[in-house]
Amino acid sequence: MKAAESDLPDRAEIDAFCDTLWLEDGLAKASLTITETRNPQNLNHPMKLAAFETSVSTFDFNAYLAGLKAPLHDPQTDGINVTEPKFFAEVNAILTDTDLGAIQTYLRWQFIHSIAGTSTPQSFDDENFNFYATTLLGQEEQQPRWKRCTRRVDNELGEALGEVYISRYFPPSEKKRALDMTVAIEAAMGRDIDSLDWMSPETKIRAKEKLHTVANKIGYPDKWRDYSRLDIVRGDALGNMLRAREFESDRDLAKIGKPVDRAEWAMTPPTVNAYYNPQMNDVNFPAGYLQAPFFSAQEDDAANYGDMGSTIGHELTHGFDDEGRQFDAKGNLTDWWTTQDGKKFTERTDCMVKQFDGYLPVENVHINGKLTLGENLADLGGLWIAYLAWVDESQKVHLDMTAKQDGYTSEQRFMVAYAQQWCTQTRPEALRTQLQTDPHAPDEYRANGILADMPEFAKSFNCKKGQPMVAEKVCRVW
Ligand SMILES: [Zn+2]
Repeated sequence: MKAAESDLPDRAEIDAFCDTLWLEDGLAKASLTITETRNPQNLNHPMKLAAFETSVSTFDFNAYLAGLKAPLHDPQTDGINVTEPKFFAEVNAILTDTDLGAIQTYLRWQFIHSIAGTSTPQSFDDENFNFYATTLLGQEEQQPRWKRCTRRVDNELGEALGEVYISRYFPPSEKKRALDMTVAIEAAMGRDIDSLDWMSPETKIRAKEKLHTVANKIGYPDKWRDYSRLDIVRGDALGNMLRAREFESDRDLAKIGKPVDRAEWAMTPPTVNAYYNPQMNDVNFPAGYLQAPFFSAQEDDAANYGDMGSTIGHELTHGFDDEGRQFDAKGNLTDWWTTQDGKKFTERTDCMVKQFDGYLPVENVHINGKLTLGENLADLGGLWIAYLAWVDESQKVHLDMTAKQDGYTSEQRFMVAYAQQWCTQTRPEALRTQLQTDPHAPDEYRANGILADMPEFAKSFNCKKGQPMVAEKVCRVW
């Protein structure tokens, strides 16, 4: 059937589309690859404001800073970190050569794309979903509106929502259990560092100094964010979103020149996730994660250590993965390794790069071993130290390792609990996108690839050499 004439784009629309695509393409080509951005040295280019202004001569950076109300005033003394100088050189070239109309179209598109959703007319929302969810991820159906709106409250007023959430669903007893488990896993990591045969005593002292400095942040922040300056107006959903963004930007800019607030959280309390921040040297476990099915007071230690314990170990190990190891106990980008130990670390991590490079989750797209290295190291190290901590706790209570529950020994249930957190379904489109943009390997490989590196897994299930879950060459760093 012939499309109705009004459905066809007109010349001006085609031009606008081409301009936007061309600009986006140019900026993408001038950017570091996602794998390159994993090396913090590639993003470390501190310079004085004046030097940056000279390098981006076509852009009035002063006017931009004034518009933002950023507290930077003296270009000769105030400094910034220009994460990607090559990118800004390209911005400068594009601004010099590009027609103003094309830049205006590009900025309009950027803005509309950034707000498309529950507050924009249906046609914007649908078009955005059509490309970013259906084409790129294979998602067929939009989520119900109530879920999307709840997520917006979490995005825009996360700690206000978190305060209510904590009072209802996270009693102090849960916080204590999670903290006890974190302390036990940290102690296991300390013993693991002591036992490493490839690391010199000199580097071990530094590694343990860093481990003992890690701040354990459990559940929610000690001090809640004050939203009293943010205006929430009933009936103005888009305005609320824009004001929330401005509030957040102002809050960030106000940090300039002040001491680092180490109590700050980068995830909201209801979030089902966790993180390690190398610049703060802290592990953060939001309350939303510290609950079933990851953790439950009804379950025994085998299940809880295999699941939540391995995540606690995962975040801790991030402090010592290929990226995290470049930061010291205080979060400064400083090399605390002897040259020899750094070399030995890389030799061992190369084993994991090769292992994950070898997986082909979807036709023609392999896992990128370098891109996923930090996460794979954290998965394997995390599972290993959670296992050590669990064995230690089990010995303290004289647990009978041969006794079965639900047909499995405790050790088998520890391994099953680890694997169960990765029981998910992913569409091929989403897999393809994930493999090229996400530093996490697909869930199936986070279970099978990691357990294949654990001889303890093979032993507990009597797997024989040559079987799929037994790696020919076992990788181990931590
Ligand atoms: Zn991670």
